[in-house]
Amino acid sequence: MGKFLMVLSHLESWFVLQRRILPWRESSSIYRVWVSEIMLQQTQVVTVIPFFERWMARFPTLQDLARAEVEEVLGYWAGLGYYSRARNLHRGAQKVLELGGFPKTRLEWLGIPGVGDYTSGAILSIACNQPEAILDGNVERVLSRVRRVTRQKGDAQFKSRLWQLSKIFVESAAQAGIEPRNLNQALMELGAMICTPTKPKCSVCPISPICRAHQRNDVESFPPKKKPKNWIHLEEKVHAFVNARGEVLLSVSEAGKWRAGLWDFPSQSPDHLFKKAKRLGQVETHYVVTRHKVKRVTEVWSVSNSVRSSNGQSVWKVAASELHDKNLCWVMLNQPKVPMGAPAKKVIGKVLKVIQEG
Ligand code: SF4
Repeated sequence: MGKFLMVLSHLESWFVLQRRILPWRESSSIYRVWVSEIMLQQTQVVTVIPFFERWMARFPTLQDLARAEVEEVLGYWAGLGYYSRARNLHRGAQKVLELGGFPKTRLEWLGIPGVGDYTSGAILSIACNQPEAILDGNVERVLSRVRRVTRQKGDAQFKSRLWQLSKIFVESAAQAGIEPRNLNQALMELGAMICTPTKPKCSVCPISPICRAHQRNDVESFPPKKKPKNWIHLEEKVHAFVNARGEVLLSVSEAGKWRAGLWDFPSQSPDHLFKKAKRLGQVETHYVVTRHKVKRVTEVWSVSNSVRSSNGQSVWKVAASELHDKNLCWVMLNQPKVPMGAPAKKVIGKVLKVIQEG
């Protein structure tokens, strides 16, 4: 066995001995790996663990997930953010049932909603032990350091080179009898625990003998930084209407629209919904979506418990079922019990303060 494979074998042994005990690792069925990988996108391991355990208690199998209502699925996702991941998991589970079983190849997995190159490689290697490449942020960092991969020829070339390296690593390892599930998870674990963005622990790294950045002493120059984004600045205005019972009106975004299935403060002005409204104040928050920096202004109003119907008449004490037809509902803001997107949740504390002071 040459030096490269000796080092990979050492990496596998390190992983088997040192890996963290994580709920999705202990019973790594395809369904559990799939859910965990989707939850782990853009979210830290410690945050994901309680969400994963609650999810598995309620949706222990693919069938349980596929048959659930999307609102309930979103409720179990509430707090993890990026809700399209939950909607895609739900639709994906339904598609797998329609197909009569889990996909068996990368190409087939890519046809499942929300599954991209990384997730398909992770499922096939971790759950099915197939020698498939993966590339997440941790693996990207490790491989770019090990081979000193630069962005000189652009981002696409940089990624393509790293995918190629990931393939070489897992395929060479498999030929030498190293399990693909161990090799790929070892690279991810190494990135999370040893080859960290700053102050990597090279002195205890199992692959330091083949790491070029370590040998050249320029580890922190890799991965090379991306060009800064050109931000687009936007402003949006929403309204928090508070009734005499201290409830706040929320509206739900319809299927097919941005943030579908999530509840938020309505954008309609008070004139559209209420006869009388007294302004209590406003709060300002900020959030980021892809290339957009959004300033959100939430105006807070005290209103009487009436909603204007479509013919312009005021409907007093509207029943909850009727409100639901209008995609509106009254909720206690400190316990909303409906799935809300991150920008809306961010405002809650400040709105409650304005209400208390008003
Ligand atoms: S030697 Fe250092 S830079 Fe290289 S992979 Fe290990 S921790 Fe990362």
